[in-house]
Amino acid sequence: LIRLSLARAAARGVRVLPWRARVRLVLAAMRLLARRSVRADGACECTACGARLDAFVPDYGQAPAARLLGIAGTSVNPRLYGGAARKSCPVCLEPERTRFLLWALAREDFRAARRRVLVCSGGPGLLRHMAAHDTVSANLRRTLFADTACDLRQAPFADASFDAVICAYVLSYIDDDAAALREVFRMLRPRGVAWLVVPQDLSLATVEEGSDLAAAERAEKFGNACHMRLYGMDFSAVLGGIGFSVSELVPRALLPAGEIARLGLQPEDRLYRCTKP
Ligand SMILES: [Zn+2]
Repeated sequence: LIRLSLARAAARGVRVLPWRARVRLVLAAMRLLARRSVRADGACECTACGARLDAFVPDYGQAPAARLLGIAGTSVNPRLYGGAARKSCPVCLEPERTRFLLWALAREDFRAARRRVLVCSGGPGLLRHMAAHDTVSANLRRTLFADTACDLRQAPFADASFDAVICAYVLSYIDDDAAALREVFRMLRPRGVAWLVVPQDLSLATVEEGSDLAAAERAEKFGNACHMRLYGMDFSAVLGGIGFSVSELVPRALLPAGEIARLGLQPEDRLYRCTKP
């Protein structure tokens, strides 16, 4: 929903600037809108936009930027996190899993080398960290933050052309996600890494498919009418079947409880770091 609304803004002519400039502009506007949520001495910190905050918010639809853009949705999905309240950033709206991804990238000093990166459907909080790289910002159609149209099932990029591919909340929208994963594998250079974030029910043993369901049924079943499936705990094995060497990163195993709270993460969350051998 965020991206749809921003896409409409793009259609109104903001697109004369390159995506890096648009990301900077939109983030500046978001910071201004959410200035009441930001505290220099805030106990929490967003790894995406860098804001210091008193607290994260359970429903990003209530954040000022979301209200202005008319994003009425809620980020509450009873199937995620065992029904625990979500923790979105009130400034950049990035959800906890994407902010955990940015923590993980910082941990391995992703910035240290300039890389060729493909980011699929990135929001401004994520993309600001990719601006210094040789980054292609892509989406199914060109949007406010994506200059390149890319159907990930048949991606318009050469074999072994990226050091990293980042897909945060992308695969669940694609009917044939196996085709998309094979494309991600194909586009990566040897030892290249795909960073994958998907909506996942941690109590679910296997991926629950529903690309044949009506939108209303998918909304009921997956918590989002546009999602084709909800991922289960076998996702790691699915990725292994594509050929990746997979590391499952979990906040609880990597960070003390105080740091998980400060960064607004979900302790049992999953982030998939997939290396092409
Ligand atoms: Zn933020």
